[in-house]
Amino acid sequence: MRGLGAAVAAWVLSGAVAAAAPAEEAPLDYSFAAIRAAFAYPGVDTSVTWLPCGEVNAFYSPAEQRVILCAELLTQENVGYIEFVVAHELAHGVIHQRAVTYTGSEEDAADELAAYILIGMGKQRAVMQVASMYLKRGRDETPWDDHAGDRRRGVTLGCLAATSLGYDAPFCPSTAGDWQRANRTWTLLLPTE
Ligand SMILES: [Zn+2]
Repeated sequence: MRGLGAAVAAWVLSGAVAAAAPAEEAPLDYSFAAIRAAFAYPGVDTSVTWLPCGEVNAFYSPAEQRVILCAELLTQENVGYIEFVVAHELAHGVIHQRAVTYTGSEEDAADELAAYILIGMGKQRAVMQVASMYLKRGRDETPWDDHAGDRRRGVTLGCLAATSLGYDAPFCPSTAGDWQRANRTWTLLLPTE
């Protein structure tokens, strides 16, 4: 199993998949208007505010239906990472405001919904960039943290982006990271009418 994990990590990090992704438009839109519009499901109204936090982070406040983006995020050169963080927090907003059902961790669900929306926007490159960042950082998983470990997050996100581009990815997890399954799931969970 270690060999398979290493293989998929090497594959994502190689940049071979990212090279096939649509080119990212530049520069970064700090209001994230397009991403916010993609999360504007009926019944969902989430505001986004930049604030200094003292750390590179972001939060969703259910009480305020607000995403707080830490100004420290702007120190990150990885544009895909910043876009993914915004999408992940907006995904928490959709899950909360639409009372979306899920199994497993809400953090896993938010990661997958974020990837589903970004990939739907043609932003596979952003998803691959954040996958590479997680794989390189490699923080360990802790069972009492709802977030998966960095390598699991990286593999799952990288495989979602790759399979959405039509890659045959035999060493990806059979279900987590599979675009066809994720696409069916979120289409069903989030009807737009
Ligand atoms: Zn989260």
